[in-house]
Amino acid sequence: MEYKLTFDQYQQGLEQEEFSGLQCNACNTLTFPPLGVCRNCGGADLKVTRISGNGTLRTFTVIRVAPEGMKPPYVVAMVELEEGAWVTGNLVGIDPDEADMSLIEKKVKLGSQVVKGDTYSAGDSRVVTFSLIE
Ligand SMILES: [Zn+2]
Repeated sequence: MEYKLTFDQYQQGLEQEEFSGLQCNACNTLTFPPLGVCRNCGGADLKVTRISGNGTLRTFTVIRVAPEGMKPPYVVAMVELEEGAWVTGNLVGIDPDEADMSLIEKKVKLGSQVVKGDTYSAGDSRVVTFSLIE
């Protein structure tokens, strides 16, 4: 199988605040974060595409009991990107104890942060974050 976008290329993009997804040549659906196949039709005919990094916060939860290596409390959100894909990541730059339903439908911008590796992973990796657009 040929990978249009490798994990390393995706990680390097995140570090430079350049967000790459995969656009399906069969059904035109954007897959982000990138996967081996289209999230809609399962097709493998994909092209790398740069996404805007803008989205709308659709739902969230505050984590108070965290897995190993994570420091609670923090906010995990689901965001619908302008391009249609839904993405999960941490909402940063707010006090988790102040998080309430007024966050729903807020406009956010993608960013990234490094998550330390744990017993079950292959080391540190960079993941998507969200920040509120004032
Ligand atoms: Zn597709």
